Amino acid sequence: MSSTAVSVPMPMVPRNRRSPEEVHAAAPVAGQRKVLLAAPRGYCAGVDRAVIAVEKALAHYGPPVYVRKQIVHNLHVVSTLEEKGAIFVEENDEVPEGALVVFSAHGVSPAVIRSAEERNLRTIDATCPLVTKVHREAVRFARDDFDILLIGHDGHEEVEGTAGEAPEHIQIVNGPEDVDSVTVRDPSKVIWLSQTTLSVDETMETVALLKKRIPTLQDPPSDDICYATSNRQAAIKKIAPDADLVIVVGSANSSNSVRLVEVALEYGAKASHRVDFANEVDESWFEGVSTVGVTSGASVPENLVQDVLRLLADYGYADVEEVVTAEEDIIFSLPKEIRAALKAMGDPSSGLGGRGQRPTS
Ligand code: SF4
Repeated sequence: MSSTAVSVPMPMVPRNRRSPEEVHAAAPVAGQRKVLLAAPRGYCAGVDRAVIAVEKALAHYGPPVYVRKQIVHNLHVVSTLEEKGAIFVEENDEVPEGALVVFSAHGVSPAVIRSAEERNLRTIDATCPLVTKVHREAVRFARDDFDILLIGHDGHEEVEGTAGEAPEHIQIVNGPEDVDSVTVRDPSKVIWLSQTTLSVDETMETVALLKKRIPTLQDPPSDDICYATSNRQAAIKKIAPDADLVIVVGSANSSNSVRLVEVALEYGAKASHRVDFANEVDESWFEGVSTVGVTSGASVPENLVQDVLRLLADYGYADVEEVVTAEEDIIFSLPKEIRAALKAMGDPSSGLGGRGQRPTS
């Protein structure tokens, strides 16, 4: 672990509650107030790539560009793209025949691809390559006639997409509570896979219980929980024991953001709350708080975190120490449809997108 000082700009967030002075009176003395800022946090390579794909599509084809489901699970990102001309829909049948539609980072099932073909939609597939990897594993093990236990949240878009690759072979296991109801045909041909954004610890607990029931259960060829999810959880595990309060920036439907709140509490934070925006921070959370941990989910642009840091500075938590537990330098190339369009139009862009933690406005 390494630590670096981070300068925080002057507070700017408008407030309509108790004054900072009133909150100061209830908080520990100024010298004891500090912020531990997790790193890595925020944008992962897959989210960055998906957002760039929509931006490039808007720039090259012009609005409207349809996007099936939220491109990534973040309210701010979605509303910013809407302002630029993206139209978010739930299903392909809401997209006019022949129009351009982008599939989100969470991935789609073959049935969704077929329905797009039936409507003659032009498609850009912004599925994160690490989700695609899990799809390929599902296809491969289904082809070899395995039963596949997919650990993940039933109803989550990513799980729907993966399960749709081989519905007759896949059972969804939400967590330890589902283990007893699992049934398999041949215990020697069973493998578990998982959603990419789960709690690492809870998933291992579920796997351990599954292996008690099915000792021959096979592990996936490589980790399905992605590097970004694992790294953000590892960073908050380091901070949580020293934090009276952990603030996680992220949306309610962001699986990895919600998991960060759970992990913070599990690893010793006295309290933890998720917010989409700085103005959702409740000053009552600061009562008696010396150290505030701050992190953000993998779909959260850094400007939203900076808003929270400005707010914290406003309330006397201006001493920020960045706690770095990993460096991330993963880059994914843009979806092939975008690369082809850039090339055809003589765009000098490299075709690279998906660099975690790029600065955003
Ligand atoms: S959280 Fe992981 S799987 Fe999801 S988009 Fe980011 S890198 Fe890809």
